[in-house]
Amino acid sequence: AKLSGRNTARGFSAEQAQALQEKAWMEGELREALARGGFVLHFQPQCSLQDGRVLGAEVLLRWPHPQRGLIPPDRFIPVAEECGLIVALDAWVLDAALRQLARWHAQGLALPSLAVNLSPPRLLHGDLQDQVLRLLAQTGLPPSALTLEVTERLMLDERQDRRAVEPLSQLRALGVGVSIDDFGTGYSCLGYLRRLPISELKIDRSFVHELAERPEDRALVAAMVTMARGCRLQLVAEGVETEAQAQVLRELGCDAYQGYGLARPMPAAELEAWLRGRL
Ligand code: C2E
Ligand code: CA
Ligand code: CA
Ligand code: CA
Repeated sequence: AKLSGRNTARGFSAEQAQALQEKAWMEGELREALARGGFVLHFQPQCSLQDGRVLGAEVLLRWPHPQRGLIPPDRFIPVAEECGLIVALDAWVLDAALRQLARWHAQGLALPSLAVNLSPPRLLHGDLQDQVLRLLAQTGLPPSALTLEVTERLMLDERQDRRAVEPLSQLRALGVGVSIDDFGTGYSCLGYLRRLPISELKIDRSFVHELAERPEDRALVAAMVTMARGCRLQLVAEGVETEAQAQVLRELGCDAYQGYGLARPMPAAELEAWLRGRL
């Protein structure tokens, strides 16, 4: 961590002390929210770029805090990772997401699959495969109804990377999808594409943002399309905000997209209405 100029040999600066206090506060609140069901799932649709069909939705965690209002995941996920709560939190998300999808299927709602984010600690925690197997058995959902999104961050550490191969292989063998999230932002070494059993690449939104204006970004996405085709991977673009971006992605041959231009992440009831409205 970077030390501020005011830091002295005697201890923490005022800012550091405050940051520590804030983290300790949040950890306590996270524990309590987890215990009393204080989290909510939002869902952001993913559609085919070729024919517009709804392929699924990404599950995004929301924390409506009683005093502080909605706390964004970018603020609480890192804290949950640091204090180890992320394992339980991601397990809760997976459980709640698949039960929701099973209810939707029972109601005849046409949503084929859900994509769930997994932090590296959750992926490496031994009981992930058991949890997935148990949930699929309990809900009767096909394994193809679930895609797990893991980040390139996982590949930062070679030891972690090696430990991830086994759980991911088992899940892939079951028929569960495995997606590399934020593809292109992490590591220049693409060796993990050969080592890890994956089914999908998710182009980070930083490549999409200026896609219609920057020929360089277009070339990079074109290379990703070639790579995905060659490796027989599904290719999904995230953060698509404009029709111009969607058009370029379609021309280049990207399979699917997600973003504010299609729909914002929304609570379950709104997604139901959105899906019904598309029929
Ligand atoms: P992510 O997995 O990359 O998720 C996509 C983020 O982009 C979401 O932010 C989504 O709301 C936002 N987004 C979607 N479309 C657009 C768009 O068109 N433009 C822009 N500018 N943004 C868009 P969100 O929901 O705030 O989540 C932030 C991050 O928190 C996620 O990034 C993911 O890494 C993490 N996260 C969310 N839910 C979970 C979870 O259940 N478990 C874990 N481990 N991480 C989660
Ligand atoms: Ca994601
Ligand atoms: Ca992403
Ligand atoms: Ca991202």
